[in-house]
Amino acid sequence: MENENQVKLETDVLIVGSGPAGSSMSLFLATYGIDHLVISKYFWTANTPRAHITNQRTVEIMRDLGIEDRIKLQGTPHHLMGDTSFCTSLAGEELGRVRTWGTHPLRESEYLSASPSSNYDLPQNLFEPILVDASSSRGGKFRFGIEYLNHIQFEDYVEVTVRDRLTNETYVIRAKYLIGADGGRSKVAVDMGASMEGKMDIAGSMNIVFRADLSKYVAHRPSVLYWVLQPGADIGGIGLGLVRMVRPWDEWLIVWGYDIDAPPPEVDEDFAKGVVRNLVGDESIDPQIDSVSLWGNNRMYATTYQKGRVFIMGDAAHRHPPSNGLGSNTSIQDAYNLAWKLALVLKNKAGAGLLSSFQEERAPIGKQIVLRANKSIEEFGSILSALGVTDTINVDVMKSNMAQLHDESAIGRSRRERLLEAFDLKDYEFNAHGVELGQRYCSSAVMSDGSMEPPYTRDPELFYHPTTYPGARLPHVWLVDERQQKVSTHDICGKGRFALLTGTNGSPWKLAAEKVSSELGVAIDAHILGPGQRYQDIYGDFAKVREVEEDGVILVRPDMHVGWRSNSMVEDPEVALASTMRQILSLRYL
Ligand SMILES: Cc1cc2nc3c(=O)[nH]c(=O)nc-3n(C[C@H](O)[C@H](O)[C@H](O)COP(=O)(O)OP(=O)(O)OC[C@H]3O[C@@H](n4cnc5c(N)ncnc54)[C@H](O)[C@@H]3O)c2cc1C
Repeated sequence: MENENQVKLETDVLIVGSGPAGSSMSLFLATYGIDHLVISKYFWTANTPRAHITNQRTVEIMRDLGIEDRIKLQGTPHHLMGDTSFCTSLAGEELGRVRTWGTHPLRESEYLSASPSSNYDLPQNLFEPILVDASSSRGGKFRFGIEYLNHIQFEDYVEVTVRDRLTNETYVIRAKYLIGADGGRSKVAVDMGASMEGKMDIAGSMNIVFRADLSKYVAHRPSVLYWVLQPGADIGGIGLGLVRMVRPWDEWLIVWGYDIDAPPPEVDEDFAKGVVRNLVGDESIDPQIDSVSLWGNNRMYATTYQKGRVFIMGDAAHRHPPSNGLGSNTSIQDAYNLAWKLALVLKNKAGAGLLSSFQEERAPIGKQIVLRANKSIEEFGSILSALGVTDTINVDVMKSNMAQLHDESAIGRSRRERLLEAFDLKDYEFNAHGVELGQRYCSSAVMSDGSMEPPYTRDPELFYHPTTYPGARLPHVWLVDERQQKVSTHDICGKGRFALLTGTNGSPWKLAAEKVSSELGVAIDAHILGPGQRYQDIYGDFAKVREVEEDGVILVRPDMHVGWRSNSMVEDPEVALASTMRQILSLRYL
């Protein structure tokens, strides 16, 4: 098929979308020295807060990219995130609190031990400019106001027709690879013919972004989320609203439901102010309404992430409600997975086969998070049922059922017990450390060491299980460098390079790494962790998590996942490492 428009630009990678997926992909590619261009149909980055929970995995990725300090500077810190409250209004009765995002003292130590990085609340409209700025300063190119229209794939390149929304000019960009990071209504996914499972728009939500100083209602129970249960205030009569902190404690976002099967509601300023006053429970406040928008809750995931030279990532590939705060996190983690692979293929250091591991590794994660986020919504049902608001459509009966919480009676006791159990279930939404950090890959870019995968000793969704089993994220422990400064295992790996970790008796692995690295032209940083070395396992923590002998080895991919390991020294470490690297890099047929 011929393109009737003129080829005006050429680039190695064209990224459609400057959201969390597209702008982080650009940052990764810019850092790895890959020529690329980002286009976005809007004239700037996200104009509302939207995603905000920035989990440890994302922050440690930003640490790898050298911009963790910018997140620290602008994000609301961990200790102000976690007293998640359930109430009848902010000024009204409080029904219970759930400690969230790892702020329970018993969970906090696990979060602290698992990563060099803390989680933050960083609204998407602040995070995206950080990514765009960091990428641009490293050579990333962005063109706003350019709309993707369609693409045609050829053997060696993809031709993408775009429209300049200022001039209305239509032209073609030729790229070696095309990435659809164009969000939940992705046209790239449709044009690529991605197979999707699930359903879009299963429920309607409206966002009301407003400013009002609410400190007197919240500062004593600092949290990101305040859930308001008001019988009769909403469609279906149940009334579950969310007052979300954007900036403590004077910028907010309310999420309020509407009937997706009815015509979209007209939300004017008076209506929006009414919702705010109602959920805050204070008629006297005069909120400044910044914006109102409608959006649909989805339950859809792609099973195809790649067709030839075209990829999709982020919401283009997984669409789900904000529960668990996984959307932008997973989008950035998709990009982190693909970027180093694309960089090596474009530099002719890896075979194109390496790229197919992107779908093998990320499609199961996309499915997992879509199902998890939707289940978390369903689990609110237990809270509503414990309060007795789902047994009836009569608002007065709902109110008297809820009032039974105060009763000195068997039914009162049962409601109280069921409510506590229902709150416990919310751990799967708000403290799902295993979902956030425990991703394990099984693909052609991970080499088995012949061992059995270690079994989960606790709930795999709630708890992160550190392991060096091939495919797992490299466990974090603190080491010290030659100046006795603390450095994480993550600080000495990543940066677009492979790394190899061994102990004092594993020095032949270092020699092997140097030879294989120079033979393949692929950077492998070998670290012997031991006394007198550049890095020392001073607390002995690495010895406890490495799961291999001192003379064994762990090969870490540039995305900080274990690519392979050997339990002990082998007869010829160079041969073993070379053949492993060739398999991971899909160099068998080059
Ligand atoms: C209320 C709310 C709260 C949320 N809370 C969280 C949270 O706490 N944590 C979390 O991780 N996630 C959260 N999310 C989800 C999060 O916002 C999304 O998952 C995330 O934005 C997806 O990033 P993306 O880059 O894939 O897509 P998007 O951010 O949707 O970006 C899409 C990009 O593609 C561009 N684009 C689209 N079509 C075209 C085209 N034809 N041509 C050119 N450009 C195009 C757009 O301009 C935009 O730049 C929330 C979402 C909502 C609505």
